[in-house]
Amino acid sequence: MAALIDRGRVEATFANKLSRLNSRHRKELESLLGNPPNIDSVPEAFWQRVEDETSELVASMLILIFIASSTQHGGNASDSQRQAQTYGTQRAAQIARIHRRESARKLRAFAERTSKKIANKRRQNQRRVERAQSRIARTQEKLRATLADQKSADDGVKAERLRREINDAKATLEKAAREKTPKVLKKEIRSATIDAFGPDRANRVATTGTTQAASAGSEFAIQQTVGFSEADMWFTENDERVCPVCAPLHGTFRRVWSQQFPNGPPAHSPGSYPIDAPCRCWISYENEKLSRDDKVRFKKLLKQAQQRGDTTKPFPARPGDPVGKL
Ligand SMILES: [Zn+2]
Repeated sequence: MAALIDRGRVEATFANKLSRLNSRHRKELESLLGNPPNIDSVPEAFWQRVEDETSELVASMLILIFIASSTQHGGNASDSQRQAQTYGTQRAAQIARIHRRESARKLRAFAERTSKKIANKRRQNQRRVERAQSRIARTQEKLRATLADQKSADDGVKAERLRREINDAKATLEKAAREKTPKVLKKEIRSATIDAFGPDRANRVATTGTTQAASAGSEFAIQQTVGFSEADMWFTENDERVCPVCAPLHGTFRRVWSQQFPNGPPAHSPGSYPIDAPCRCWISYENEKLSRDDKVRFKKLLKQAQQRGDTTKPFPARPGDPVGKL
């Protein structure tokens, strides 16, 4: 059969919920970090809560998607539910653990970078103070000498210039005192926290998470019912967003794709946190009754395969290959 029914809506709901949760975590993190940012003022309890709340939310979505996909492929409702619970909680725990680790790592790196910058600024500032102080002392000495030994009108002008010089150096000192603790720009902090908790991250997790739970659900149902076939076919969306890992799998049979990805889509980071290209692929099962759309797609793919005289890989699409509209 086809991809998960109503996938777009499901995925958008997933992304929205996760985005809202991330945004709450991001705001908390910003206030815990303070300015200048100090990673040690973010307690372990915060990271633990990030992990727990992410895990809970992701699990609820993965379970729903698994059940939807499994029953869509003829899976028995109660078996699907039981399996979905196990699958969803385990997978969500993995995702949440990696999310916590990666976010904490990114923020620590950011805080270390900024504290180095701040230390540099402080050193520069200190040097500026020392230079200004010694200039003031020198100039005051000169001024005293000039005033003690005033002979001509020229000396009056010179004294005036020295006084101005002293005032300038004093202004530098005041400025340096104001900048004793350099702050980090708000937008720098924002961009660091958005990197870890922004909507991009949420969208990627939602897209790949949807694909993975849908695959797990359909594979479970097919194995329980009509059984796998060597001709179960991998589909990509076959558009400009398809990543270079997925693209060559489009239109390949189980015996080809399963060597690389035995559990089906997603075709990358299968055991880890979906950080890079999001995957939207699915499997079409030969033993299943096909939807009309899929029948049309299938016919085209098989015809092209026959024309190529290639039965193992009827549609070896490469990135940028003019593959026609599926
Ligand atoms: Zn893919």
